[in-house]
Amino acid sequence: MDFRDQLKLNVKAGAPMIQIVSHETLRVRAACSWVADQVGYDFYRWNRTRGLTLCSGDSRPEEGVEQAHEIFEWLSEKAQSREKVLLLLEDFHPDLVDGHLETISRLRNFAISAAMRDISHCCIVMSQPVQVLPPELEKDVQVMQMPLPGLKDLKMLMRQACQTFELPEREYHESPRLLEAALGLSTSEAQLAFARAIAEKGRLTESEIPLIVAQKEQVIRKSGNLEYFQPSSSMEDIGGLDRLKEWLERRKAAFTEEARDYGLEAPRGVLLLGLPGTGKSLAAKAVASAWQLPLLRLDMGRVYGGIVGQSEDNMRRALSIAETLSPCVLWIDEIEKGLSGMQSSGSTDGGTTARVLGSFLTWLQEKDKPVFVVATANHIAQLPPELLRKGRVDEIFFVDLPVEVDRLEILKIHLRARGGRDQAFSEAELLELAKQSKGFTGAELEEVVKEGLFRSFSDGRALAKSDLSDAIAATSPLSQTMHELIRDTREWVKGRAVTASSAPPETLEGLRSERKGIRLPQEGENPFLETQG
Ligand code: ATP
Repeated sequence: MDFRDQLKLNVKAGAPMIQIVSHETLRVRAACSWVADQVGYDFYRWNRTRGLTLCSGDSRPEEGVEQAHEIFEWLSEKAQSREKVLLLLEDFHPDLVDGHLETISRLRNFAISAAMRDISHCCIVMSQPVQVLPPELEKDVQVMQMPLPGLKDLKMLMRQACQTFELPEREYHESPRLLEAALGLSTSEAQLAFARAIAEKGRLTESEIPLIVAQKEQVIRKSGNLEYFQPSSSMEDIGGLDRLKEWLERRKAAFTEEARDYGLEAPRGVLLLGLPGTGKSLAAKAVASAWQLPLLRLDMGRVYGGIVGQSEDNMRRALSIAETLSPCVLWIDEIEKGLSGMQSSGSTDGGTTARVLGSFLTWLQEKDKPVFVVATANHIAQLPPELLRKGRVDEIFFVDLPVEVDRLEILKIHLRARGGRDQAFSEAELLELAKQSKGFTGAELEEVVKEGLFRSFSDGRALAKSDLSDAIAATSPLSQTMHELIRDTREWVKGRAVTASSAPPETLEGLRSERKGIRLPQEGENPFLETQG
C-alpha cells in the first residue's frame, strides 16, 4: 500500500491527529489534498508565513487565523457546525516543545473530544522535517514517515524539468535506468540534479547518469552520516576468509526475481568481528561489487547530535535512503563506535543511544526491502548483547589473523596489484615471507609490500626478496601488543560466531590458552549465556 493510501486509511479511520515526518512539503501537500478529496473533506493549510488557507475548490485565505490559539478556536467552530475538515499544519514542531503548554493541552483536548465523539470528521495533519512529539500526545498522534520520491514521482519531476528548460524532445530520453539513478534524492534534490544535467549537457539521456549519480553521491554525503561508494574491490582481492567468501557466493543471486519466485528471503546481513586491518571493510566493498549493488557506508558516530530527537531522525533518514536505493549493501563500519555509550546511556545521554540502537534493531528485524547489512566491529566488548543475539543478522563471522597460506595469498594479491610483481618471486620465496610474517594482518602485509617498494625504488633497482623481509623485520604487528584481546576474542567467539577462515588459527608466542569461559562485561552474570571451555 502506498503512502497516500495509508494516509487515507488513517483519516477514514477517524485518527484525530497525524504527524508526517518529511522534508517533502510539496508531496505532503499533494497527498493531503488527494486524501481530502477522496474522503470528501475540505482541505485547509496553515503555515507561519501565509496563515490559514482553504485549498479545496476556490482557494482563499481565512482572515484572522494566524496564531496557534486562533487555529484551535477556528477549528472548534468548524467541528461544532459539523463541517468535515482536514487541516495541514506545516512546520508546527516549534509549537510542540516545552514551553508551549497551552498549545499542547489544546491538542490533547482535541484528541479527547474526538475520542468522546464530540468531534468527528476533523483531522489535524502536522508535517515537519523532524519527529517532535511531547509525551502528552504520544498516544493520540499517528506518526507516519513519508518515503523519498519513487520512480513515478521522479518521472514527473524529470518531465517538469524538461518542460521548464524547454528541452527539445530529441534531447530527452526517459529510461528506467536514468530514473533509477535518481532514487535516493528528495524532491528538491532531484529537481536540482535534473536541472544541472540539462544546464551542463543540454540533454537528459542515459549518458547523463554519471552526472546524476555524482550529484547523488554529494547529496548523500551531505546528509552527514552516509557515503555512497563506487565499489572497486572484488572477491579476488581478498586473501583467505574462504568460509566468508563461500557464504557470500552462495547468496549472490538471492536478490534476484528468480530467488524471490523460488521462495527465498533476501539475506538480512552479516556482522564481521575481528582485529583492525584483517579485511572486514574490504569484504564489505567486495560484496557490493560482486553482487553489483550500490554500496552505502553509514557512519554510526555521526548519527548522533543536534537537538532532542535528531539522532533518531538521522538514523531513520539514513535507513530510508538505503531502502530507497535497495537492493543495496549498507556497510556500517565500526558499529561499536556509535554504540559505546550504551551501558551508561540511560544516565548520560538521556537514552538517545539506546533509542537509536532500538530503532536500528527493529528495522533490521522487520525490514522487507532488500538492504544487505554488513556491520564490522573491532571491539566485541563494546557491542551491545542485543546486536549479537541470533537472528538479528544472518551470520556473525569472526575474522582472525590470517594463517600462513592466507598470508601467502595476501602477499601475492598486493604484489600483483603493484605491477604484477608476484611473478618476480618463486613460490618458495613467497612462502618464506609468509612464514616470517606470522601474526601480521592483511593491512600490515600490504604495508610490507609498499615499504619494500620504497626501499627498492630509493636504491634504484628492482624489488628483491630482502626488501620485503627487511620490511617485515622492521614492523611490530598489532598482534604483538594485543595478545590479550586476540586470546579473549578467540575464546568468546567459540559457539557464538563462525570463523571466516576454515583454517585453524595459529597459536601465537606468549598466547596462553588456559583461561576458559571469557565473559564480556556487558553480559554480566547472565547464567543463560553459554561459555565454552
Ligand atoms: P578497520 O577496522 O581498521 O577498518 P578492517 O578489518 O576493516 O580494519 P580493512 O580496512 O579491510 O580492514 O583492511 C585495510 C587494507 O588492508 C585493505 O584495504 C586491504 O588492502 C588490506 N587487507 C586487509 N585484509 C586483507 C585480506 N584478507 N586480503 C587482502 N588484503 C587485505
